[in-house]
Amino acid sequence: MADDQVNVLLVDDRPGNLLALEAVLEDPGYNLVKANSGAAALRHLLDKEFALILLDVQMPVMDGFETARIIREREKTHDIPIIFVTAELGAIDHVGRGYALNAVDYILKPYDRDILRTKVAVLAELHRKTAKVRQQAELLGRSEARLVKLVAERTRAMEKLERTMVELERSNKELEQFAYVASHDLQEPLRSISGFLQLLEKRYAGQLGEDADLFIARSLAATHRMKTLIEGLLAYSRVGMRGGSFEPVDCAKVLEQALVNLQVGIEESDAAITHDPMPAVVGDSSQLGQLFQNLFNNAIKFKSDRRPEIHVGATRDANPGHWLFSVRDNGIGIPAEHFERIFVIFQRLHSRSEYPGTGIGLSLCKKIVERHNGRIWVESQPGAGSTFFFTLPAGGDHSP
Ligand code: ADP
Repeated sequence: MADDQVNVLLVDDRPGNLLALEAVLEDPGYNLVKANSGAAALRHLLDKEFALILLDVQMPVMDGFETARIIREREKTHDIPIIFVTAELGAIDHVGRGYALNAVDYILKPYDRDILRTKVAVLAELHRKTAKVRQQAELLGRSEARLVKLVAERTRAMEKLERTMVELERSNKELEQFAYVASHDLQEPLRSISGFLQLLEKRYAGQLGEDADLFIARSLAATHRMKTLIEGLLAYSRVGMRGGSFEPVDCAKVLEQALVNLQVGIEESDAAITHDPMPAVVGDSSQLGQLFQNLFNNAIKFKSDRRPEIHVGATRDANPGHWLFSVRDNGIGIPAEHFERIFVIFQRLHSRSEYPGTGIGLSLCKKIVERHNGRIWVESQPGAGSTFFFTLPAGGDHSP
């Protein structure tokens, strides 16, 4: 059956009449189905969808009107247009009116072939259009259902993500709290260990033998390391928990203070530190001081054979309302595969004997920058130097 071919049911008890109808309506757009009684017509109507029915009125057993009445009663066939074919106009006038509302038409025998063809063509076209509209409505309904399902799935995923984030934040806070309390409480016994070790050293140096002196010295060095570690951990957990309030901060002042604090190291390494005009930002000035200090400290510590040259840059970030800072050095550089790792707490690329340190500095920087809603990352070339970038929210229009 062609795509837009429709079924047309021809009902007449006389084979000759059926053949005549068939000849008139011959058309590739129609599939003509013949029935020689009302009962046969009803059977066909059960297993096919019809665009219209041409129904002979005068038939034995079940006449056309009776057949039409049953067709109208069935829900599935209720709306199929029926064209009565009759030789008696009187019969139509008398009974046909009862069906008039249900799109019943009639045609008088002998019929005009063109009129018959036109009537059938109009109804067939109506059927095609209705089918198309119904198909499109179904498609629309299906895609709407899909959309509704997608939206529901997305909403569920978002809710889950939100719950996970809340949970993550809570467990992060807990961990921070734990780190803070633990490191705080560890300080006290450590102080006492290191105090007694110092006493031992002071009172018994040279009296217990060379080995004992060495053991005491090593133990003392270890307590120093532990003290530095604990202080680092404390500083790290303090960023989130005990951070100061945000206020306008003049970065020129912060920078200046960091340089004063690092004066000894700067002089010892003969480092040259230059900077762009520094803008104002909004933040926690003491933490921003720590940030610059840690980055300078690393730039000096991981210097190459050259004299350390450090430059601090500041430009407007692509993200409006933010500044992009850079701290560039000419030190040993960092291989690209470690660009992420170095910001993780306790991650170091060297042994303590090569470079002293705890592996906390950059993770602290990351935490500080993130508390300020900024990002931090590094670009570097081993042997040439490293540049650490970070963004901070701009404060006022203190533009350089
Ligand atoms: P620490 O300095 O205590 O080792 P950090 O967290 O500050 O810890 O740094 C982690 C690692 O990143 C360092 O051990 C070092 O390998 C690398 N690194 C940091 N800053 C620099 C730098 N400016 N140049 C080269 N390597 C660096």
